[in-house]
Amino acid sequence: MSKLATFAAERGVKYFMISYTDLFGGQRAKLVPAQAIAEMETEGAAFAGFATWLDLTPAHPDMLAVPDPAAAIQLPWKPEVAWVPANCVMDGGEVAQAPRNVLRRMVAAAADQGLRVKTGVEAEFFLLTPEGDAISDGFDTAEKPCYDQQAVMRRYDVIAEVCDYMLGLGWGPYQNDHEDANGQFEMNWEYDDALVTADRHSFFKFMVKSVAEKHGLRATFMPKPVEGLTGNGCHTHISVWDMDGKTNAFAGKGKGPTGEVGLSKQGAHFLGGIMAHGEALPAITNPTVNSYKRINAPRTVSGATWAPNTLTWTGNNRTHMVRVPGPGRFELRLPDGAANPYLLQAAIIAAGLSGLKSKADPGPRLDIDMYAEGHTVTDAKRLPLNLLDAIRAFEADTAFGEMLGTGFAASYAKLKHREWLSYTAHFSQWEKDTTLDI
Ligand code: ADP
Ligand code: MG
Ligand code: MG
Ligand code: MG
Ligand code: MG
Repeated sequence: MSKLATFAAERGVKYFMISYTDLFGGQRAKLVPAQAIAEMETEGAAFAGFATWLDLTPAHPDMLAVPDPAAAIQLPWKPEVAWVPANCVMDGGEVAQAPRNVLRRMVAAAADQGLRVKTGVEAEFFLLTPEGDAISDGFDTAEKPCYDQQAVMRRYDVIAEVCDYMLGLGWGPYQNDHEDANGQFEMNWEYDDALVTADRHSFFKFMVKSVAEKHGLRATFMPKPVEGLTGNGCHTHISVWDMDGKTNAFAGKGKGPTGEVGLSKQGAHFLGGIMAHGEALPAITNPTVNSYKRINAPRTVSGATWAPNTLTWTGNNRTHMVRVPGPGRFELRLPDGAANPYLLQAAIIAAGLSGLKSKADPGPRLDIDMYAEGHTVTDAKRLPLNLLDAIRAFEADTAFGEMLGTGFAASYAKLKHREWLSYTAHFSQWEKDTTLDI
């Protein structure tokens, strides 16, 4: 019997969602009845690739989404359905630009060097009214709403339901809180291998949206859904281990400023790669027009954006792009809620591996409050101010594109340019207000 047919028989699953994520992070699925799953498990489910964001044409042959049975997750809120992430195949070969394939290539490249990258994500979200135009809790209006005890309890039904589901799935959730913006929450679960985290991150977004809908709300991971309030980050914590996952290759006392904060020589080089490719990263970690309203943003009502403005790294200080919160790992604070869960992980691994190869030096550690004193550091590189600058920086870093795969890089840049053009073609009220009487 096929693995998924067995999964269905043991758990009473009636339908499988064979799901893949396109270049813009959209999750696409077919609902396949359990009776038909055995054939789909080997053959894959057929999709017209052009109909989603993968840079394919209507003339391309069928794209087959081949499910990964080891990653199947039974929907805790609808146990007769199971979600299975799939790998995209066409003409007998992997679709190079499909995000899960890009990440799998990066995981394999790390394994070639005897390394296993483990990551955790902090996928912040807002709970809005169903129309998405207001914070759902009308009493959630404090100037500093972070950790607001009363407000988190007013959304207990949603938060506890999702946390209970994560407990049942064995993800090791350990805390939930009201975040720094009105209507904003964060739920944390244990880090794991990058591919496992990417699958869980995808499923988490699906689950939070589904549970919110069930409660008559709308969950959003949009980078800056409310002007003037803190945006949705997706901080990513990273460590690198040996293949049996027992020894943290980042932990140790390297020399210099990285050694002082508990990073090994390898950790320092990996971080060096992140810094070296830091200008190319935002096209992936901050992939939308709206993303640039979160980074480089003016101070929010709460007093800080909690998002970086500069390509700088530090110890346990939340005002820079990279924070080393403790020995043996670092936190990339750049990514936002729009980041594609697979490409996010792939980009981090690509940059890190290239740093290991070139023995990159992350440069000096900056320990100042970057929000208050950033202007005193004149040589700090600024993060891109908009999506176009980010796409151009991504294209200019050809070594990074080659690491990720040239086919992927070209397709991604092409579709992102198209998105930018669509944005600039949009006629805004701002233009009229500022230009009408010119
Ligand atoms: P903070 O808000 O202080 O940045 P959180 O507790 O919200 O931190 O999130 C920390 C994330 O980092 C979690 O997903 C956690 O599992 C993960 N993490 C902890 N240690 C490591 C590690 N060694 N490698 C990778 N991720 C880690
Ligand atoms: Mg049809
Ligand atoms: Mg957190
Ligand atoms: Mg947070
Ligand atoms: Mg964080």
